[in-house]
Amino acid sequence: MENDFLSPLDCVVVGGGAAGLTAAIYLNRFCRTVLVIDSGCSRLSLIPSTQNYPGFPSGVNGQELLKRLHLQAGRFGASIRNGVVSEISKGKTQPFEIRSDSVSYFAKTVILATGSTDVVPQIEGHEKALKNAFLRYCPICDGFEAIGKKVAVLGAGRHGVNEAIFIHHYAKDLTYINFPDGVAAENMELLAERDIKIFDGSPNSLVFAEYGVSGVFGDGSQASFDVLYSALGLNPNNEMARLLKLHLDVDGQVKVDDHMQSSLEGFFAIGDVAHGLNQISVATGHAAIAATAVHNLLCGRK
Ligand SMILES: Cc1cc2nc3c(=O)[nH]c(=O)nc-3n(C[C@H](O)[C@H](O)[C@H](O)COP(=O)(O)OP(=O)(O)OC[C@H]3O[C@@H](n4cnc5c(N)ncnc54)[C@H](O)[C@@H]3O)c2cc1C
Repeated sequence: MENDFLSPLDCVVVGGGAAGLTAAIYLNRFCRTVLVIDSGCSRLSLIPSTQNYPGFPSGVNGQELLKRLHLQAGRFGASIRNGVVSEISKGKTQPFEIRSDSVSYFAKTVILATGSTDVVPQIEGHEKALKNAFLRYCPICDGFEAIGKKVAVLGAGRHGVNEAIFIHHYAKDLTYINFPDGVAAENMELLAERDIKIFDGSPNSLVFAEYGVSGVFGDGSQASFDVLYSALGLNPNNEMARLLKLHLDVDGQVKVDDHMQSSLEGFFAIGDVAHGLNQISVATGHAAIAATAVHNLLCGRK
């Protein structure tokens, strides 16, 4: 593939998930020249049915939502290419140079919308279980669907314990499966005072059944659950931000100002890769703010 854009683009959007495609819709409607480069692994495509995204009273499948965002961006003339962005650089007075699959693109601004990647529990059949909603990653998204159910949380460290406490609000019966280290004493207390059962285990001790998941634990006991929440963590896809030495928060998300601009002028970050809550509505909100800031910056407005 060649770079057929002769002069620098107004903006290159890296990532074409919820955030990147929404940014493309806005920027095309601002009559800006925009290219979206996307490697095709949006977390949206993993959602069996989202029930909390506004405007879909019966829920919407993640792939369907992605398709609609593509259609809407296409309707306003967005250029979207499949590819992996492997490098971004910026000379003092030069535009950004964005390298993807051996091609260089040049742009006055960049919006990073590369999302995050879930740490997947190595349990056979995890993909099917995710589709069937026996495996879940995000209690903010779907804790409501766990009301009255028998739930297990596979977690590590304080993050895992916090997720168990969140889900305790919904579940009828909750077990915390600790992996890989022992539960710290203060965390034990937090779990025990909520009557959350605790097992030391590993993903190897778990098996997805036709309905739900079952496990054999270190002490030989067995149990089965309606739903397993994996709370092993989430890694922001922040390689480009690291390359440019941008400021990151403790979780590795890109620090941004009120306009979603990073510590480098003209470089914005939105969605799951940016500091904030990992939700579709947040990603689309970030996109609206960043795209408007890009437009204002290019207009010379302050
Ligand atoms: C199972 C599951 C259920 C969920 N349920 C809900 C829900 O019900 N409600 C809700 O609000 N949220 C839900 N979420 C979270 C939601 O999917 C994310 O918050 C949302 O997709 C974030 O959008 P994004 O654009 O930041 O990232 P994504 O949608 O993940 O898109 C990022 C895109 O960037 C691309 N990319 C990454 N690196 C590069 C690169 N170097 N070059 C080019 N492209 C790149 C990826 O391929 C991907 O297409 C769920 C997530 C999961 C996993």
